Order: sequence, then structure tokens, then C-alpha cells
Amino acid sequence: MDDSRGVGLYYHKAMEKHKAPTNQSHEEAPQRTRSIWRTLKDKGFLQRCVLIEGREAMDEHLLLVHTDDHIRFINGVRSSHVLIVARLVADEELSSGFAVVRPPGHHAEREDCKGFCLYNNVAVAASFLLEERARSIEKILIVDWDIHHGNGTQSSFYDDDRVLFFSVHRFGNGFYPGTKDGSHEIIGEGNGAGFNINVPWLSKDRSNADYIVVWDYVLLPVARQFKPDIVLVSAGFDAAKDDPIGDCNLTAEGFAVMLEKLREFAEGKVVLVLEGGYLPTNLSDCVLACVEVLTDSHVFNASFGRPHGETYDVIKLVRETLSPYWPVLADEVLPVEVLADQVRETLSPYWPVLADEVLPVEVLADQGHQDSFMDSDPGKARMAALRSARGLVSPAVFDNLSDLSDAFAEGVAKLELLNRRIKDSLKIADQPESSGR
Ligand SMILES: [Zn+2]
Repeated sequence: MDDSRGVGLYYHKAMEKHKAPTNQSHEEAPQRTRSIWRTLKDKGFLQRCVLIEGREAMDEHLLLVHTDDHIRFINGVRSSHVLIVARLVADEELSSGFAVVRPPGHHAEREDCKGFCLYNNVAVAASFLLEERARSIEKILIVDWDIHHGNGTQSSFYDDDRVLFFSVHRFGNGFYPGTKDGSHEIIGEGNGAGFNINVPWLSKDRSNADYIVVWDYVLLPVARQFKPDIVLVSAGFDAAKDDPIGDCNLTAEGFAVMLEKLREFAEGKVVLVLEGGYLPTNLSDCVLACVEVLTDSHVFNASFGRPHGETYDVIKLVRETLSPYWPVLADEVLPVEVLADQVRETLSPYWPVLADEVLPVEVLADQGHQDSFMDSDPGKARMAALRSARGLVSPAVFDNLSDLSDAFAEGVAKLELLNRRIKDSLKIADQPESSGR
């Protein structure tokens, strides 16, 4: 990456004037962005980054997404001019950027304010790029990792195959916005069919590991086929631990890894736009970690443990639903963790150790996962994969396979299949990964 271009940071002091007129303890408060900016300042990032002076969006740009009536209705509260950051990154004047803005935008519909959102900042920026930078920006990946579904962004590009919209969010039991729009079955229509991906969590308490496997087995494979020219992130941090609204357990490290993985696309042209996140101290830590990633100064030290069992069910559902549009998702090679769980379930009546809650299998698999991510050296990545493989099919199980009765047949078949797939995946790991950066 060309470091000389720098990372853009956008902030507009006028945002702090926007507050709930009657509710002094409203979660969407000026304290949110003020705290972020102070943290970035204290850590020296205001000196290291390119500061983009805030200004208000012009009607002609808001009209790309919203109606005239909508703009007149909200008259007086202006949107931040987020698209300036997106334009500078698209034009390669900046390597990447983070727009620290409020109020959030991803719930705002064409003609409707929703949630705490007035204007859909990300949708306006994406529409602007597609209109005004059509020659260099033909395809945009929008990743919405806010804990709420990005309904407004989804409807802005629902029939548009130039935008791949991906949202992972809590869903059901009345969780906001509480409609069916966030279901995994809502996949886009017309030209946009297959270009809308929803990953719905049916329960709370999701953690880093859940997000990372969704990245690895849904988002990244599809994005590699889509090949975006730029990545916009609806960067809400209300899935972070202790957030008063999200009830999940992500950490700053989790967001850092999710972002790092997105930098493989579009030569690292990534623009984050702040959405939710309602515990200012947490929010600041998460944004700081992301800015460290963008400036190549983050030290990765994560160990994420094991994903929630239900996460694999969601991954399977999403893969099945979208595989007609993205053949890579129909791939026979299932996530190795899913296979391990299947094998474990089949064999655990005979080998109680396999029913243990904490198995070396998962630990090793997770370590392999981590190491191969951390290590760009294919040799080391292969060693990590080998360690996982040994853990998955332990010698103790193998030594006894010859004595197995018919009752084991199904399990053995699965083990053999698993072995073959592990071998296949090792072959893949042998080849150096092509990297845009
Ligand atoms: Zn949110």
C-alpha cells in the first residue's frame, strides 16, 4: 500500500449540536463522537492521519437516495458530508478513511427517518460514487456490522447488482427494526437478486468468533467473486461488549480482525462510517483499534475461542439460500468446524471424550484458524492447518478404527470424508494466497 497517501479522518464539530430535544439521557448523544475524537487525539492519530474538514451535505447529493419531501421535512438538521471521504479514497488521494459522524444513517429510508437515523450516509456516499465516479467505481461492497439490520441501505440498492450489501445483525423477538427485512431469505430482486446478504442472529451474546467464521465462510468467499472497487463499512459498534443496546460480546480486537480481513479487497480502499455504539468508552476503543488497522499500526493478539453452535446453522442457511447466485457457497468443502462437530456428534456415544465441552479439537482448530490468519507465510499457515488436522482426527480414535462395528460405519465414512477434505484444504494452503496488498 502506498503509505504516502495517508488515512483520512472526518469529523464535523457541528454534529455535537444535534441532540434529542427532550431526553437528556438519550443513548445517541454528542458524547459518543466527542469521546472518539478525544481518544484519537490522545493517541496521536490526529497528527498521523489526514483530517478532513467537516461540512454539510448538499441537497443534490442527498437527493440521490432521499426524496425532496424527506429533505424538507428534516430541514434544519443537515447531514454530514461523508461522501467527501469516499470520493478521496476512490480517487486514490487517501488510502482509506474513517468518518466519525452522528447521527447514524443505515436505518434511514428514502422518505422516512428511522431509528436514530435521518439521512443514510453510506447509501448517499455509494450512490455518489456510482454516479460521479462511474469509470473507476463500478462495484461497491457495503458491509454493515452494526448490531441492527441496515434496512435503509438494503432498500436503496435492492435491485442493483453494482452494490453487494452484507448485513449481520440480531433478528427476531422484536429486536429493532423488528421487520422481516433482515431475514436471510431477503436476497435482492431483479438485477440485484443475490446481491443482498443478511446474516441474522436469532439470539444475543454473539462474540468475535461468531463474526470471524461468518466472514470466512460467507462474506469473504462471495466478496472475492464480486471483486469490489471500494468497500464501505457501516461501522456500528453496538455489538461490542457492555453496549447498553446490543447485548453481544465483541471486543475492539474482534472489529480489528474483521476490518483487516476486508482490506484484502479493492487494494485496501476501505471507508468506515460510524453508525451505532452507545457506550462511549467502548466505542472509542473500537474505533481506535480500527484506525490502528487502517494505519498499519495495530498489533494483533487475539485468541477468539469457539463460535456459538447456532452460528453454523445460520451459516448453512445463508450458504444454501445464496449458493444459486454464488457457486462458491455451494462448495462441498464445508467449514472444518462444522465437519468436526458432525463427526463428534456421531461418534460421541462410543467415545465420550468427544462429547466433552472443551476439546483439544476445537482449541487446535481455532489456533490453526488464528495462526493461518496471522501468518501470511504459506509454510506456517500449512503447519497451522496440519495441527488442526491432527487435532480433529486424533491417533486414539484412528488406532481403534479397525475394530469398529457396523454401528460406526457412518462415522467412519464421515471421518474419511473429513480426512480427504483436510488433505484438499492443505493443498490449497500450499499455494501462496494472491493478495491485493
Ligand atoms: Zn445499531
